[in-house]
Amino acid sequence: MRALTVTPGVKNSIKLAQIDEPTPTASQALLRVREIGVCGTDMDLNQGFYGEAPPGSSYLVTGHESLSTVESIPKNNQGISKGDLVVPTVRRPDNCINCQHGESDMCLTGNYKEHGIKGLHGFGSDYAVSDLNFLVKVPSDLADVAVLLEPMSVGEKGVYQAFKIQERMLWKPKRVLILGAGPIGLLTTYLLRLKGLEVVVTATRAKDSAKARLAQRAGAVYVNTVEQPLQSLGKFDLIMEETGSAQVAMQATSMLNRNGIMCFLGIYSPTTAPEDIGEFYKDVVLGNKTFFGSVNANISYFKMGLRDFADIENRFGGILRDTISARILPDEFQKAYAQNKDNIKTVIRFNN
Ligand code: BGC
Repeated sequence: MRALTVTPGVKNSIKLAQIDEPTPTASQALLRVREIGVCGTDMDLNQGFYGEAPPGSSYLVTGHESLSTVESIPKNNQGISKGDLVVPTVRRPDNCINCQHGESDMCLTGNYKEHGIKGLHGFGSDYAVSDLNFLVKVPSDLADVAVLLEPMSVGEKGVYQAFKIQERMLWKPKRVLILGAGPIGLLTTYLLRLKGLEVVVTATRAKDSAKARLAQRAGAVYVNTVEQPLQSLGKFDLIMEETGSAQVAMQATSMLNRNGIMCFLGIYSPTTAPEDIGEFYKDVVLGNKTFFGSVNANISYFKMGLRDFADIENRFGGILRDTISARILPDEFQKAYAQNKDNIKTVIRFNN
């Protein structure tokens, strides 16, 4: 079968290879992959920055954002059967207490595995396998957009955790700043607009770019920070950092309102900055401010995302469909890895 593979640690090793079909174990489903989405983590894998092949394998099948049709599945109490559409979650647990309580996204040891990223093959192949406890069943009316569910789950977790943490006081947020209009930034924008919050999205593309238009269609204000400085936008109750730029993240820390909260969702590179950290800590204390990081998402956030997808599509007229900027075939995979300023989310279609 066809599989998009990388050799971890080797730059530009992505290729469409022929490999054997996987054989499911007694607790796994065999999936016929419909499509995968390509994201920044996949780019990093291909840069050799990140990634780990399964034990005994010299390569890693990529693809952690996916949608599949169940080809075969053991008897289960999730109501999933052959022919159903499913999205598998990414992370698989180890033996720590969080993992054993369904919170592998909060793994204590770091010994978790991730499909298509760390120690387990991904879903970028004609067939793939997943443990049946980590499959989310997708209704057929969301088939066109369900490949976005994995990035949505990351946004859902960040937002849910922010509100959960803020239960520490009476908190009635009004203004939200979303740094970055990549797929997770946009999906988080749709979610927070659904909750009725005032949302400002910042990025470096023009005001009439496709990303800007999607943000505006959801009722958010889009700001091109090349034209208008970040600091001129005022204060915010919630800031979602989704650019992955440590410099942007640092600049935005002073833009929180009193009692505000900022969520970091990027994977940051080493960056030194000559900031006054005394002033920063004073501001954190005197303003009761909270800063937290969030990674990955357990199955509960995928289920939340699925519920919100239906509402988002209705409310903003098919906006999720338009967030997928291109669908290409596996042998055109290089298009997904090339820099393209009109790209938002490229999806690679394996099977119908
Ligand atoms: C994925 C997460 C994963 C993270 C770190 C992200 O791209 O969406 O599921 O935990 O990378 O590996």
